[in-house]
Amino acid sequence: MEQTLHLSNTTLVVTFRCNLKCKLCAVSAPYYTVPTHYSLESLIESVRRYFEVVDNVDKFTINGGEPLLHPQLPDIMDFIIKYIDRIGTLEIITNGAVAPDKRLLNSLSRSGKIDILVDNYGPELSAKVPQIVEDFNEAGIKHRVRKYYGEDAHFGGWVDLLDLSKKNRTADETENIYKRCAYPGPFRCFVIFDGKAYICGVYKRCESLGIIPDNPSEYVDFSSDSEPIEEKRKQIQNFYNRRFFSACEYCNGFCEDSKRYAPAEQL
Ligand code: SF4
Repeated sequence: MEQTLHLSNTTLVVTFRCNLKCKLCAVSAPYYTVPTHYSLESLIESVRRYFEVVDNVDKFTINGGEPLLHPQLPDIMDFIIKYIDRIGTLEIITNGAVAPDKRLLNSLSRSGKIDILVDNYGPELSAKVPQIVEDFNEAGIKHRVRKYYGEDAHFGGWVDLLDLSKKNRTADETENIYKRCAYPGPFRCFVIFDGKAYICGVYKRCESLGIIPDNPSEYVDFSSDSEPIEEKRKQIQNFYNRRFFSACEYCNGFCEDSKRYAPAEQL
């Protein structure tokens, strides 16, 4: 009998556009010269292919950039909700600076499994938090506010992953960073940009800058039907079983002892 393919987390990046310009953005959104909204068609095709391969996932997260800026977010959510029986929690992460419109509220109120994570970077940047909370309360949509400012900021603050110079470590040293990094570790990160699932935003940034070459053995491609489903299942099963990814040679990792910085410092 075929084994069930179960994942802990998957993140779908729907846009690189954002109304904030956070210096230490985890996906380097402000540093892309042409930040794009991914098209509804490509996002739908990626989700369809993903659920052809993956049987169920504990948490499926929609992120950006700022996902609430994507004009077709309600359509994206409507499509993903078709798979809601195979999702533990369907989450959107938003920056507290964009209020949801009526269409989105209607779409989100369709499932009790939807949970919105509102990051609060303080009253100046996340000025819409009170309105967002009121809108979600009125619409009966589950939500949480994560405090990301002041002395008690979540997780002690952000980590600086901007330095992508070659670190010239030994393979054992890079392996040690990878083993301690939160993305393959506790986050069990599997993040889809433009139809391809990567280990983290640093990998995607390294690839976009040409620091590392296109290497199909290091991501899972949901942008086409070129590989058989069985092949993709094997790639996912073995995804984290490696010494490290090529991007790790350029990265200091998101480790427990990494220096923390104030979240959302603006460029
Ligand atoms: S060490 Fe860097 S590149 Fe490697 S998984 Fe962690 S954050 Fe990503």
